[in-house]
Amino acid sequence: GLIEQLQVVERAKEAFLGGRTRPLEFRLQQLKALQRMITDRQTEISTALKQDLNRSQYDTPLLELISLENEIALAIEKLAEWAAPRPVEKNLLTLTDEVYIQPEPLGVVLIIGAWNYPWALTLSPLVGAIAAGNAAVVKPSELSEYSALLLRALLPRYLDKDLYPVITGGVSETQELLKQRFDHVFYTGSSAVGKLVMQAAAQHLTPVTLELGGKSPCYIDKNCDLRVACRRVTWGKFVNCGQTCIAPDYILCEPCIQGRVVEGIRQTLLEFYGADPKCSPDYGRIINQRHFSRIMGLMEGYTAVLGGQSDASQRYIAPTVLKDVPPQSRLMQEEIFGPLLPIVTVSDMDDAIRFINEREKPLALYIFCSDKKAVKRMIDETTSGGVTVNDVMMHCALSSLPFGGVGQSGMGRYHGRHTFDQLSHQRACLLRSLGMESVNLARYPPQDRHRARR
Ligand code: NAD
Repeated sequence: GLIEQLQVVERAKEAFLGGRTRPLEFRLQQLKALQRMITDRQTEISTALKQDLNRSQYDTPLLELISLENEIALAIEKLAEWAAPRPVEKNLLTLTDEVYIQPEPLGVVLIIGAWNYPWALTLSPLVGAIAAGNAAVVKPSELSEYSALLLRALLPRYLDKDLYPVITGGVSETQELLKQRFDHVFYTGSSAVGKLVMQAAAQHLTPVTLELGGKSPCYIDKNCDLRVACRRVTWGKFVNCGQTCIAPDYILCEPCIQGRVVEGIRQTLLEFYGADPKCSPDYGRIINQRHFSRIMGLMEGYTAVLGGQSDASQRYIAPTVLKDVPPQSRLMQEEIFGPLLPIVTVSDMDDAIRFINEREKPLALYIFCSDKKAVKRMIDETTSGGVTVNDVMMHCALSSLPFGGVGQSGMGRYHGRHTFDQLSHQRACLLRSLGMESVNLARYPPQDRHRARR
């Protein structure tokens, strides 16, 4: 209830103010405990994801746990370096002074996670929050119910209970939570809710990180190895049943290769999921009935060239490809977030660039093309949160690259050191001595004195 929420946040605040997150040894110990949790509980986590999303036992480590383990290991290895004061350049007036930037904790961070990768999307921000010395209230998505309940049961067994509490609940609980005052809100989810989060945070002038979604385009040039391109796109689109924020949302290609692209995807689907993906242990399900109906609704009036089958009782939608999709269709208005892959034809790369620039700035852009010059030009003439060339989604796996959106796809960035920086205050520190006062006389009134001296 509300009272309990207030108490939880209050306790986190008090624990933070008590100062125990300040020493790096404490942060390291918490990070190691989190590391232990992931290692000890792999099987339980995989089972929860199976129940939530029919996530394959093979994909959970690959897509969720390994990246998380890497994030933790990196934070443990680099913490001392990240948290150290960074000396900066001095000017003439400060030559003998100490000048540095000191990263320092913000306070209590609220982390609101999404359901599609419920562990990575709540815990990798938490890694940075712990490393930076913050307290953090973690609110997993209610839609991935099994994962949320397991997280609530597990986290207090490994981490400091007061500093890193888990609060579960749906829209009303989140709305109540957002009324409270935090020092940073880290939100992952839809752009629509992102606006509500920012609005609520504005009441307290709380800074936000918004990891949102959108339609990430995938341009396939005729000058590329189509078999490899199609295999990579098929993986990125249909893994987790299309419910990935950086999945290629739609394909742009010239009409002359459309048929070969469809054929490449058909062959790959057969390789990956067999003749009937419904029976494949590697193919997921839609998170809930509402999303199932929403995705089915997007297809209405269009004929699939591949797939198209569904089973509401299992929330199963077959991997589906639609070709010659008109740009004005509903499929092309909103983020699909499901296993439907529309192909829109363009006349050439310039046309593709125009198409992308006419729409909201996407979270990711994918370019398949063997001509390096053309690739560079396409990158120069478009924008997106991140871009991967000749593959999909892999920029997200590299923690040296900042992960985040631009425009409607979000603000702020994280992964690796970027999370630490995002959840720290960069404090400007100038340490002078009381000596050499004569140098300072020029800035003191009265004016007359200076005139007299000159
Ligand atoms: P969701 O419905 O699970 O919502 C996310 C969180 O917002 C949950 O904790 C939920 O309780 C809360 N919430 C929902 N409605 C709310 C409201 N009215 N007021 C306050 N809080 C509310 O997740 P979703 O929005 O369905 O997630 C899908 C979207 O998230 C997609 O657009 C996807 O692209 C995006 N996404 C982005 C990233 C990223 O890293 N950029 C990652 C995953 C998902």
